[in-house]
Amino acid sequence: MNYIVLDLEWNQGSQSPSVSGTPLPFEIIEIGAVKLNNDRVMIDEFSELIKPQIYKTMHYMTGKIIHLKMQELNLAKPFTDVMARFLEWCGKDPVFCTWGPLDLYELQRNMTYYGFKPLSDRPFAFYDVQKLFALEHEENHKRLALETAVDQIGIEKDIPFHRAFSDAYYTAKVFAEIKRDDTLRHYSYDVYSPPKNKEAEQVLFFGNYDKYISRTFASKEAMLQDRKVKNCDCYICNQKAQKIVKFFSPTGKYYLGLSKCDVHGFIKVKVRIRKSEDDRYFTVKTRKIITPAEAEEIIIRSKKFKNGKRLPAKKEGKK
Ligand SMILES: [Zn+2]
Repeated sequence: MNYIVLDLEWNQGSQSPSVSGTPLPFEIIEIGAVKLNNDRVMIDEFSELIKPQIYKTMHYMTGKIIHLKMQELNLAKPFTDVMARFLEWCGKDPVFCTWGPLDLYELQRNMTYYGFKPLSDRPFAFYDVQKLFALEHEENHKRLALETAVDQIGIEKDIPFHRAFSDAYYTAKVFAEIKRDDTLRHYSYDVYSPPKNKEAEQVLFFGNYDKYISRTFASKEAMLQDRKVKNCDCYICNQKAQKIVKFFSPTGKYYLGLSKCDVHGFIKVKVRIRKSEDDRYFTVKTRKIITPAEAEEIIIRSKKFKNGKRLPAKKEGKK
């Protein structure tokens, strides 16, 4: 089995997608990747620029970060050519690895736009190396910038950052330094193609938490009425747990609940609300055993929420 460590650069319009009505908010302009064998040793590389079809001028932020010029891109091959070569290069059933959770989603959005099938017709496992690094090296699992992680473990910086290939190359080097088997059990799941029916739903067990990826529903309300979505029972012993805090939504992006199992203690239940590309709703829900102190925080938070105070959501660093 091979690993494909992937990084993309993309360009965007100057207007927000809701104003311009574009079907493709982020147009991929470069694909860089490194192939690793089963022992995480580099065995091949892929690096190609892509000729833009939608955004013909460089967004000022993109230009500032990655130092690519439109003249260069216009000499490149279009997405359909590059993508076909890339898929062939990837080979059969690779495990994708990226820095952060976004690249595979945007890749598939571009693929769909240009008439390719997505990478899978259902959620699939990949490694978010940024998350793995945070689990193994950061006390509070804080996500770091790639270069910070590279510095922290003393990887030699022999090529410049912020091009697709170099970022894939450094991500591969960081990935090779992930040592603990326990860390490597923490796969992420790409949900560009959420489950289409009950049979395709996924329940994944990660030791100290579980994850449920639901099928899609026509509305948020219908989803939140579903028994399995609402369920707050213990994911370890499957016994009925006592409801401590009813679901509340601190940000509108997710619902939080708290229950208690007689044997395993407090369980934090988080129902994230996701929207599919065909405008339906599904959830990525987690249930996690937490400490009494953490449970107390949720109780306080829910009371403040009842009193009308909305607490800001925790920020999660992306890149
Ligand atoms: Zn239990």
